[in-house]
Amino acid sequence: MRLARALRARVDPGGAWLASPDVHLVIQVGRGYRRAEKTNVGASMNTKTRTSMLIRSFLFLGMALLALEPQLAADQAMWDLAKANSSIHRFSTLFTAHDVRDRLSTEQGLQAAVDWCRDTAVTQVYLEEFRDGYQAERAALEKAKARFVGSGFDVAGCITTTQLGKSSTGWKTISCYTDQPTQEKLQAIFEYAASLFNEIMIDDFWFTDCACSACETARKEKKVTVGTHSFPVASDSWEDYRRELMLRVSKERVIRPAKRINPQAQLIIKYPQWYDRFHERGYDVVSESAAFDKIWVGTETRDYRDPRWGGTPQYEGIFIMRWLGGIGGAKTGGGWYDWLGTTEKTYVEQARGTILGGARESLLFCYGGLQGTTGPENIKALRREIPELLSLAKQVRVRQIAGLAAYKPANSHPENEPRVFDFVGMLGLPLVPCHEFPSNAPAAFFSIHSLKQLGFESAFRNWLRSGKRALVTDGLAAKLPKDLTAGRTNVRILAVKGDPKSLLELSEPELNDLRAWALQPFGTTLTGPNKLGYSLFTDGSWVLQNFNDVPAVAELNGKKIEVPARGWKYEWRSQVPSF
Ligand SMILES: [Zn+2]
Repeated sequence: MRLARALRARVDPGGAWLASPDVHLVIQVGRGYRRAEKTNVGASMNTKTRTSMLIRSFLFLGMALLALEPQLAADQAMWDLAKANSSIHRFSTLFTAHDVRDRLSTEQGLQAAVDWCRDTAVTQVYLEEFRDGYQAERAALEKAKARFVGSGFDVAGCITTTQLGKSSTGWKTISCYTDQPTQEKLQAIFEYAASLFNEIMIDDFWFTDCACSACETARKEKKVTVGTHSFPVASDSWEDYRRELMLRVSKERVIRPAKRINPQAQLIIKYPQWYDRFHERGYDVVSESAAFDKIWVGTETRDYRDPRWGGTPQYEGIFIMRWLGGIGGAKTGGGWYDWLGTTEKTYVEQARGTILGGARESLLFCYGGLQGTTGPENIKALRREIPELLSLAKQVRVRQIAGLAAYKPANSHPENEPRVFDFVGMLGLPLVPCHEFPSNAPAAFFSIHSLKQLGFESAFRNWLRSGKRALVTDGLAAKLPKDLTAGRTNVRILAVKGDPKSLLELSEPELNDLRAWALQPFGTTLTGPNKLGYSLFTDGSWVLQNFNDVPAVAELNGKKIEVPARGWKYEWRSQVPSF
């Protein structure tokens, strides 16, 4: 493997192969021989011995090359596959500002990074300028950028707004953006990034939870101030203040200055995975998606049972990617997941969910992190599945999803039904996430979130008049007039009981009954256990994911299907047009 790397480095146009540690290994065979000549032992060798050593060395080298040839071919095949599919779906990774310093400043580090990316089908890399108070040096960034570009990669920048200026009174690593010196520092960092890159991602710490006296005063005055400009705020609530603050600071301190320095600069806002709390901390997904050039989406569902990182069911990756994808439209780029709190199986589930959610890119956060703990095993498992994942992306791209509309208006409040959509998606019910009232959907799921919409009640009443089916949470039903939900054959109440995770306890007979009713408008039937992900497409194509640790026996449209533990099965109905 190491020799294979050395040989590839030699043909890599961006590689200074002689400096590679692995080439060093090859050269050492010769060096050892020459060194032996200079020693007493060497001097005592007769010609026959030296010839024999030489032959043995060449034999060893030849055998090593023969053994490694398939690996070399496999690595090259992975890279070729990735390049050929990059317009449909690409894999990417991020080098944090600290990674740029610690892992990309030497020839050895750069070569290892290039090799790792090629082996992982990564064709796009993000080189970060700032994180946790540390700004990466220009020379290191430029050197790494040149190396990756020279090796055939697409390269962009990234900024993580942590430990930047005045700390928030809430989460200490987050900033107070009411503070003008903090705004100025922020601007300088984005100007720096824009001087280096045409595309700059903002990692998902781009929010605030500060409630200092300056923020408090501005909130009460209903006024956001950025430099010499001030902007009115709709109300004196914290969520209105923070959303207006983050939008204005985005426009005035991030987007505008970056484009002034580099008119080609494209700014990407990457949304975190905790979508039901966005509004509290200043993420306004509609106005920010409009303001930024592109959006990315956190799809790191991790392991549901992990004591530190758990609690998020796997379906969330699909839900959030689709929900934000509906808001971002053509601006929607990729999903982003990491290795924290994952096993090989849950890591690969994140990969599938991201692509089933329609992502055009899978960002593997982050190179440095993936070198330790569960990272290497996760990546090994991912590499095995990459050809199938790219094929999945191709199939997903040409199809429309079908299923129950799942309505979450932007900035809606979950109350006691947080992230209920993720859990409903685990019940084997295909969802079509949306942020606007789903007037044209054949059937829909409604939760407390719907109440964010002014006039929801009358829109819902009209919906019911049309005879379409509505699955309604008990929490929402309790807040609506009785006549809207009671005694109607086209309404079913879903007992969430203020505890969405309790849905994972529903029995197979209960779920089979629910699915038979909810899926009828789509002409499909499904029986089987809980924790099944059912992705349905308008042409009848389907994907079944089994999130259980034991095989699942399902019956889909009358056909028995066994889905392996933590595995998946799928069927694509029609021919996919070539791109
Ligand atoms: Zn503050």
